[in-house]
Amino acid sequence: MKNLLEDAIAEVYTRVSPQVANFCGCAKCRDDAMSLALNHVRPRYATGDPPRGAVLSRIELQSERGQAELISVVMDAVQHVASRPRHQTPPLGTPVVS
Ligand SMILES: [Zn+2]
Repeated sequence: MKNLLEDAIAEVYTRVSPQVANFCGCAKCRDDAMSLALNHVRPRYATGDPPRGAVLSRIELQSERGQAELISVVMDAVQHVASRPRHQTPPLGTPVVS
């Protein structure tokens, strides 16, 4: 289930991230955007009985509505990371969060 979602989000990410002009796209920013998107989407697709949920989710992820939702979530995540990338050195006195 986890891999299915991650694969779907990774695929959408490669399509969506070049469209965000100020997104840096380094490994750190990519990881941040991916996990942010994953955290938004996971509760929706991870509910219910595992086998049944996995089948439903697979169909739903590939549906037009599922794809549109993923694109919107990934786009939001990429824009969020683009506006405050964590790869930069934090200002002096800022606690380091990793
Ligand atoms: Zn970066």
